[in-house]
Amino acid sequence: MIEFKNVSLVYPNGHQGLKNINLKINDGEFVVVVGMSGAGKSTLIRSINRMVTPTEGELLLDDQDILSFKEKQLRKLRTEVGMIFQSYNLVKRMSVLRNVMAGRLGHTGTLRSMLGLFPQEDLQLGMSNLERVGIQEKAYVRADQLSGGQQQRVSIARVLTQQPKVILADEPVASLDPPTSHKVMKDLRRVSKEDNLTTLVNLHFIDMAQEYADRIIGLRDGEVVFDGPIDQVTDKT
Ligand code: ADP
Ligand code: ADP
Repeated sequence: MIEFKNVSLVYPNGHQGLKNINLKINDGEFVVVVGMSGAGKSTLIRSINRMVTPTEGELLLDDQDILSFKEKQLRKLRTEVGMIFQSYNLVKRMSVLRNVMAGRLGHTGTLRSMLGLFPQEDLQLGMSNLERVGIQEKAYVRADQLSGGQQQRVSIARVLTQQPKVILADEPVASLDPPTSHKVMKDLRRVSKEDNLTTLVNLHFIDMAQEYADRIIGLRDGEVVFDGPIDQVTDKT
């Protein structure tokens, strides 16, 4: 479980990114965070892997306050909390499979994996995750040869290969056309559910949120203004 207790975040320039957030997110929930640009969506989800650090409150992941974590615990946290980005963040000149295997790097941290020599079972895991998102036939193609939708699927396969507990997806479909966006959201939801992962996805569009979320959290000016199941979202938000 992820629990925000009176979490606030003030950026160094004095801007308040989060204001007294209180939330409990259960294991296996597929949560969509909505709000206008600047509402604090990125700040909220990036707190969970400590890409940003709240300045007040407690943020518990399985009962541990991650705000107190130091280097070694942060490395472990970042293997347990995987991330998907709007811009895919693939290494363009590397093969699709190599990009997917980058999901294993944080786990072993051994010289072998740093050299790109992965155990056979890890390679099989990577291949099977490519299969789950339907692009196994692209395994040996350079990442930059793929379409946007395919690249985002590679990044989904990469995060699955990391075998995290939690996935954070920051505007994962904002660079994709509507039909591709729907396919990618459908895949992301399906694999999250298959692996019983807790997933938080930031989205601009409420209609897409309603289609895929178990629960929608609405943010405005760093505050939670809505939190509930999808059938209770009204035009007020
Ligand atoms: P969203 O993801 O909803 O677009 P963000 O979480 O990126 O919103 O940003 C929330 C607010 O915090 C915005 O006003 C943004 O300009 C501000 N902000 C984000 N990062 C920083 C930073 N490093 N320093 C100062 N202000 C920031
Ligand atoms: P995105 O929309 O892709 O999240 P942004 O353009 O909002 O990216 O932010 C890019 C980077 O700039 C982020 O690291 C964010 O934290 C930082 N940033 C955003 N707004 C501000 C701000 N007002 N002051 C300082 N840094 C900011």
